[in-house]
Amino acid sequence: MTTLTTRHNVTPNQAKNTDELPLLLLVEDSPTTTALLSKYFGGNYRLLHASDGVEAWEMLTKNPEIALVITDINMPNMTGHQLLVKIRKNDDGHYKNLPVIVMTTFEDNVDRNLAFLNGANDFITKPIDEMELLARVNVHHRLARTIRELEASQMALAELATTDSLTRLRNRRAFFENGAKALAMARRYVSDLSVILLDIDHFKKINDTHGHQAGDEALVMVAHILTELTRGVDTVARIGGEEFAILLPDTNRLGTAVLAERIRASIEREQFIVGDKIVPITVSIGIASFGVDPGEGIDQLLGVADNRLYLAKNNGRNRICVNDEGKTTFA
Ligand code: GH3
Ligand code: MG
Ligand code: MG
Ligand code: MG
Repeated sequence: MTTLTTRHNVTPNQAKNTDELPLLLLVEDSPTTTALLSKYFGGNYRLLHASDGVEAWEMLTKNPEIALVITDINMPNMTGHQLLVKIRKNDDGHYKNLPVIVMTTFEDNVDRNLAFLNGANDFITKPIDEMELLARVNVHHRLARTIRELEASQMALAELATTDSLTRLRNRRAFFENGAKALAMARRYVSDLSVILLDIDHFKKINDTHGHQAGDEALVMVAHILTELTRGVDTVARIGGEEFAILLPDTNRLGTAVLAERIRASIEREQFIVGDKIVPITVSIGIASFGVDPGEGIDQLLGVADNRLYLAKNNGRNRICVNDEGKTTFA
């Protein structure tokens, strides 16, 4: 036996899996109003019900997929106003754009204004008109979705603007942005801050001998090693063609020298294979520390590290240089 569904019985939403319907939270202490509104929403939305603000808040924290709240004002335990304040004052960004529609009686203009001040998106007056309610809910639900999409694409763009596309490390711009912030923190809390500047040795030869593609892969390999050897609070960036810089908050010059040497040794040890050949890759490194070395800005600090990188190159490459005398350690 087959069941035929007649076309005129199927609204677009009914055709969907009910789990995909937007989830609304109705906060209302009156059973009569609750029963009535539940009937209005059936089919197009899934509905959760709470009989006061306390219960509503608990449901919100347990159901992050709640897409919109419709709330009464006068309720026991916690009023609609108090609920609104709780929603808007919450640090969790998730609730920032949660649409909240308050239900008031026509005469309640003081409540209505207060609700808007507390962050309500809209209001609807009792007795509630079904079409108007559905229209308002629909508009706010769509608007919230558009805002979410905009925020997501904005975040993706910001990520793109600060990422090096080849290695996925931070780019030069992000390095200097983070550097300025880290420097401000180091000044304020009188804490350590160091930089490592690293340049691949004879990289031009790798490109010339094995091709640009192999050169790119070598850059990615170096990026992986740098990411693995550093901490989450460090900024690892590719600031030039084959030049990398690392920002190290709370790290003094001794700790920086140890890390720099560990990086140098790891890259030297790594077997970079092109075709059937092992291609040796080495790097030269200069370091500088805020407060110990001259320089008030991140660019000046990097300048000091660059002079030492130059010394490391001159002294034979595949080495680190920790001071202006060309030393490879502080010992
Ligand atoms: P040194 O040891 O003195 O640093 O020598 P070097 O050959 O590494 O330095 P040089 O500055 O002469 O050459 C850097 C080379 O890096 C030249 C450039 O073509 C190459 N390069 C820059 N960016 C990229 C990139 O994104 N991919 C590849 N494959 N090569 C790049
Ligand atoms: Mg009430
Ligand atoms: Mg180089
Ligand atoms: Mg270079």
